[in-house]
Amino acid sequence: MTDHQRRMQRKKDVVDERIEKATEERGVLILMKGNGKGKSSSAFGTLARSLGHGKRGAVIQFIKGRRETGEYLFFRDHPRLTWQIMGQGFTWETQDRARDIEAAEAAWAVAKGLLENPAIDLIVLDEMSYMFKYGYLDVAPIVEALRNRPVHQNVIITGRTMATPLQEIADTISVVNDERHAFRAGVKAQAGIEY
Ligand code: ATP
Ligand code: MG
Repeated sequence: MTDHQRRMQRKKDVVDERIEKATEERGVLILMKGNGKGKSSSAFGTLARSLGHGKRGAVIQFIKGRRETGEYLFFRDHPRLTWQIMGQGFTWETQDRARDIEAAEAAWAVAKGLLENPAIDLIVLDEMSYMFKYGYLDVAPIVEALRNRPVHQNVIITGRTMATPLQEIADTISVVNDERHAFRAGVKAQAGIEY
């Protein structure tokens, strides 16, 4: 056996042992956070993966974009998916806090129903973290709903900063760092990349 083979064998043993230990079957709560580009697109990539396996999904977008995104146009007609964009929702331009809170609560009511529905395999709560940051929603009832959700249900929450109580109950947390972004070099946002 060469040195390389020995090293690889050791690595394989370690991995095999870990695989053997990971026997629990349940849904997970995944948080995608950080200032870099890639949080929402990662969530929608996982959604494609899940739908590909014949599973059912739901998306709630807590921030209403100014235009229809490519992911919405691509996924919206999928027969095993529901897609909700927060009503009059929060945008970077809104000034009307009362109206934003009303929209946030309406979106949360939909999310709550999904979190009680065992037929839904994956729920994406896109940009939900802003609701806590701006005090539009209370985090405690959301933590409770997440804790009590159907055991096989997976949930992905995206947003730059995450509320601590969500981090405490999350199974997987990934941080997307902003090392560089084309926007700062003056590159205009483009369809199919930014939205
Ligand atoms: P994406 O939807 O591309 O995965 P994201 O969900 O990680 O991005 P958000 O904070 O939701 O990031 O911002 C979404 C939009 O802002 C996208 O158009 C993205 O290209 C852009 N964006 C993300 N991070 C940055 C950044 N650090 N600087 C400038 N623009 C950014
Ligand atoms: Mg995003």
